[in-house]
Amino acid sequence: MLDLGVVSDGALLTHRGAIVALGSTDEVGRHTLAADAEEIDCRGKVVLPGFVDSHTHPVFTTPRLIDFEKRIAGASYEQIAAAGGGIRSSIRGVREASVGQLAGHVLRALQEMARQGTTTVEAKSGYGLSLESELKSLQAIKIASQGWEGTVVSTLLGAHVVPPEYRDRPEAYVALICEQMIPAAAGQKLASYVDVFCERGAFTPEQSAKILRAAVEHGLKTRVHVCQLTEAELAPLLEFHPASFDHMDYVSEADLPMLAQSPTVATLLPAANYFLGLDRFPDARQLIDAGAAVALATDYNPGTSPTPSMPLVLSVACTHMKMSPAEAITAATINGACALQLQHRKGSLEPGKDADIAIFDVQDYRELAYWFGVNRCERVYLRGTARA
Ligand SMILES: [Zn+2]
Repeated sequence: MLDLGVVSDGALLTHRGAIVALGSTDEVGRHTLAADAEEIDCRGKVVLPGFVDSHTHPVFTTPRLIDFEKRIAGASYEQIAAAGGGIRSSIRGVREASVGQLAGHVLRALQEMARQGTTTVEAKSGYGLSLESELKSLQAIKIASQGWEGTVVSTLLGAHVVPPEYRDRPEAYVALICEQMIPAAAGQKLASYVDVFCERGAFTPEQSAKILRAAVEHGLKTRVHVCQLTEAELAPLLEFHPASFDHMDYVSEADLPMLAQSPTVATLLPAANYFLGLDRFPDARQLIDAGAAVALATDYNPGTSPTPSMPLVLSVACTHMKMSPAEAITAATINGACALQLQHRKGSLEPGKDADIAIFDVQDYRELAYWFGVNRCERVYLRGTARA
């Protein structure tokens, strides 16, 4: 993760949305260029593969300001819910919104992400929590992705929490996910992945296994929110070959060797810890030193991480998790691509890969994690298409 393969005085050549050559300016300059080739001068700047934000929840309508203010004043989760905040307010908003309204919110989030250098985004449903509203959320992601030049990977997160109307019969809700939501999302090709929040207060390991099994049976891939609040046994979940385990704030040391040997990526979301004002952050050093693949993502969502900014995540990863700037950039690019099983197309600048390129107005890559509260991304190319 420490070796970024920096090319000083580098250049790259793209054609029809793909990188065709990369090397020193002299080497690339020997290629014959098309008559209408456009040259972009990046002298004195850093050119990176676009960030891969492999964990976001962009389908919501309004910020959760009650939560924000009440939490600052020291209110508990229950007090926030009683005041009309919490996830229920997001559920109400999504259920009442039209697919067009939701798509508008998602598109705006994707555009904000791109302005900060992100070119590939994983987007989850998960605030509808009914068959109709989960499918509506996935349709909104699809419509938004058609209006954006970047790449979107869609995930069904019907198993975010048990919705209020199923509070006393969670097994019936699990059955709804397995027997209706997953078959519908797969049949309509609205999702590539199924995600489940395996945690105290959300879904038990047994319920999670049921949901992941249904996903695999319907040809969908899996990923899991796990170890955010409590340790969980990872072995039973690994049977479903999840692309990633996300959050990972509380990992059992005994699970580390197994995790290191599996292709499953540990995706850390430290902006959520920052926004919640927690003292504790995921132990990135322990995971990296054990040999696990570590990715970083924003966790963009209205409750715990309302940021579209991967550079902010780099900053928090370096300052609070003691990742080096090089490790953080690796985690936010090629390892994020691995977490979406897109490493053959995304996450690094190599011939044959998509021309997803972010240009930063800094002299040194370490500045990406150094400056914060400022956007140094000057220009981004999404499969070859420029966005200033
Ligand atoms: Zn999440």
